[in-house]
This record gives sequence, structure tokens and C-alpha cells, in this order.
Amino acid sequence: MSRRFNQPLSGNEMPRFGGIASMMRLPVATGPAGLDAAFIGVPLDQGTSNRGGTRFGPRQIRTESVLIRPYNMATRAAPFDSLQVADLGDIAINPYSLEKSVGLIETGLAAVHQGGCIPLVLGGDHTLALPALRAARATHGRLGLVHVDAHADVNDTMFGERIAHGTPFRRAVEEGLIDPARSVQIGLRGSGYAAEDFDWPVQQGFRVVPAEECWHRSLAPLMEQVRALMGAGPVYLSFDIDSLDPGFAPGTGTPEIGGLTTIQALEIVRGCAGLALVGADLVEVSPPYDPSGNTALIGAQLLFEMLCVLPGVLVR
Ligand code: MN
Ligand code: MN
Repeated sequence: MSRRFNQPLSGNEMPRFGGIASMMRLPVATGPAGLDAAFIGVPLDQGTSNRGGTRFGPRQIRTESVLIRPYNMATRAAPFDSLQVADLGDIAINPYSLEKSVGLIETGLAAVHQGGCIPLVLGGDHTLALPALRAARATHGRLGLVHVDAHADVNDTMFGERIAHGTPFRRAVEEGLIDPARSVQIGLRGSGYAAEDFDWPVQQGFRVVPAEECWHRSLAPLMEQVRALMGAGPVYLSFDIDSLDPGFAPGTGTPEIGGLTTIQALEIVRGCAGLALVGADLVEVSPPYDPSGNTALIGAQLLFEMLCVLPGVLVR
């Protein structure tokens, strides 16, 4: 193990239930200088349409993340042997203005990208994907998108508003942030307002994989196709925890039955290895609806898996 890189505080130095609950018990940094990747929280729930509570997501994900050890036993990834990683804390959103919050998120994440650091965002509701994509696009150019969700999040408006947690990917297409031909949505399901809810992305050129196409099977072959679709260009991964079945992840605002398993979630994230990932998020964890903490725990562990597939991670 190299000493040149930040290491999570070991459970043999401080019990895992003690100490400061930074993400994975990493050092906290005030800016991206010198970092290759960073966890950063966005405590936002102003964009939610049903149950709220995602403003508490980043803090609870950090609390549950204290369990995570630094080496990936399955994939042999050793992210802290080759990347400088820290916790950048939270972006100070404006709790009285969603519009201003979106601007603050874009500014905060743009600074991370411009510093040469890959942000791994702890959400927060899915509205944050829009400013996150704007910030990534400004540094890296038009993006491929891997979007894992029960919902397409391509509404034109919600309650008359163009910015909400169900609209970010419609805005991202309109603004040219993502390339529809290099965009895939996995896990869509449930009830909708009209067939157009899932047809619109297909009409734009997205690959849409409904949950029913995921049932009873490994998603490793799908991810092989996704990697071919994405090629060598920049890719953003946006992972809504409600893609998982509510039996696994009940602590979220808009749960839908018949969802993905945790095994399939691992196959999706691990299947992103080799892609030119420039940013990722894990959104929609709502601790008030998560009495066991398992939803936040799954979120924390998936964020670790995202770290393990970033470009430049050593596999030992
Ligand atoms: Mn979503
Ligand atoms: Mn969703």
C-alpha cells in the first residue's frame, strides 16, 4: 500500500462506530487541488414530487459508509493505491430556492471538474443531475449517459416547473449536454401518465431497458453492449437508488415494485469499468423512510463501487 495517497481511517486504528463520519472515513478537503476523485454531498430535496427527506441523504450515506474497507475483494480494485481521494463535504445549497440551488450546484461541481478531479456525488434528489451534467459538459464536452432509475426523468414540466427531479434528462437533451445516441436508461418501470413517458427518450435515440427486460437475468451481457455504445468518449453515470426494488431500498421518495436487485446494481456499476467516466452520482436516498439504514448503506457501497471503476484505478 502506497503512503503517497490518502487512506480511509482503518477500523483497526479507530473503531468503525467512532471517529468523524466523513465518506469512507477519508480526510476532508476544502478544494479539488491535488485530488483525482472526491466524494461531495448535495443535501437537496426541494425538487422532490412526493416524499421528501433526501436533504438528509449525504449525511446518512456518510454514516453508513464507515463500514467500507479500502479493497474490493471481488474486482481486486485498490482505488486508494493509485488515486488521491478525499471528501469535499457538501455544496451549500439555498434551502429557500431550487433555482438558486441548481446554480450553486453547477458552480460547485464546475470547480471540481476544472481542478482535474472526478466528483462522486452523494444526493440529494435527482434534480442535481442537471447542474452536474452542465458542469461536466463544460469541462469534458458532450457526454454519454448511463442512467439507472425506475423513472425516465424526462418530463417536460412538473407542476408547471421545468426544473424538478423528474425533468433533468429532458433538459440535458435540450441543452446538448448528453448525446442521445450514447445514452442508456436501465430499470424503468411502474405507472405513468402516458406511454410518452418512456417513448420520448427512445424517440431521441436513447437505449431504454425497462425493468421487465432485467428480471431473472444477469445484466453483465447488457453492460457489454453499453460499453460498446459508449466507446472511448466521456461518460456520466447517474444512479437513482429507486432503481432498486423497494424490498432492498425502501428509503426513497418514489418507490416502484419489481425493481433491480443489489446484485444487478453491482453488475451495472462494475460493468462501467473501462469507460471514460468523468463524474457520477447516487441520488434519492431519503433517510426518514429508511429506518434500518440499509438504503443509505447500499448507496454508500455503490459509491465505493463507482470509485473502483474510475479510470486509473489499480487492479491487484
Ligand atoms: Mn430519478
Ligand atoms: Mn426514480
